[in-house]
Amino acid sequence: MGDLTKDFDSTEFASVFRGVTTQVPKQLWPHLQRLANNLQVLRDTVGRSITINSGYRTVRHNAAVGGTTESQHLDAAAADFTIAGLSPSHSYCMMELLIKDGQVRQGGLGAYVAHTHYDPRGTPARWTKGITKPDCSEVSLPDDDAPPPVEEEDDMADPVARAQIMVLIESAHLQQGQIDFLAAATAAQQQRLNNLDPGDIGANQGAITALAAELALVEGIAEANAKKLAAAAEALA
Ligand SMILES: [Zn+2]
Repeated sequence: MGDLTKDFDSTEFASVFRGVTTQVPKQLWPHLQRLANNLQVLRDTVGRSITINSGYRTVRHNAAVGGTTESQHLDAAAADFTIAGLSPSHSYCMMELLIKDGQVRQGGLGAYVAHTHYDPRGTPARWTKGITKPDCSEVSLPDDDAPPPVEEEDDMADPVARAQIMVLIESAHLQQGQIDFLAAATAAQQQRLNNLDPGDIGANQGAITALAAELALVEGIAEANAKKLAAAAEALA
């Protein structure tokens, strides 16, 4: 029971940065309410619990995670989430289908290694980071006439596959962090390069090349892991 919808509470969307929790400011609640209403449609459709990894972000929190200054998270109008037992790609596709079906408001949809981003901005925006673009052709919405989906508490048929998924999600989170860090470091080096004397450019260029190679390597591992995660989720379904 939440203060926003049946399943979502405003505290789940609070900004948590360096151990400090900042609740969503009251003036942003209309954004938060619309976000939660749309996520509740997804929650009811999949019949599985949804974990909000990141909702509202303070300016400092957003800057630290490399968010853009126009990030919907600053307005409490976006959520990065995971669905219990579903891969981020599958979660992305469920939201895409609900948008196409007119049940969920059009907006931003991002596929990441360890989570899915959604914001009901009204105009379509799609992106992927660290994984290949999800192929939604194999995914469909549950049939209205079909029995309601089984809640995840009863979905313990294969504890090994379940444990495997938990490990994969954990490592995917770590990889997303590494990707964000390396991307920020590469951007910072590039910034420095732009301000350098011509004589110092060589050494800096080397650092950028090394960082870019490391970034590509981590993204490769992340993509392979995302595939494993999708396969494991498929096996469990
Ligand atoms: Zn996001």
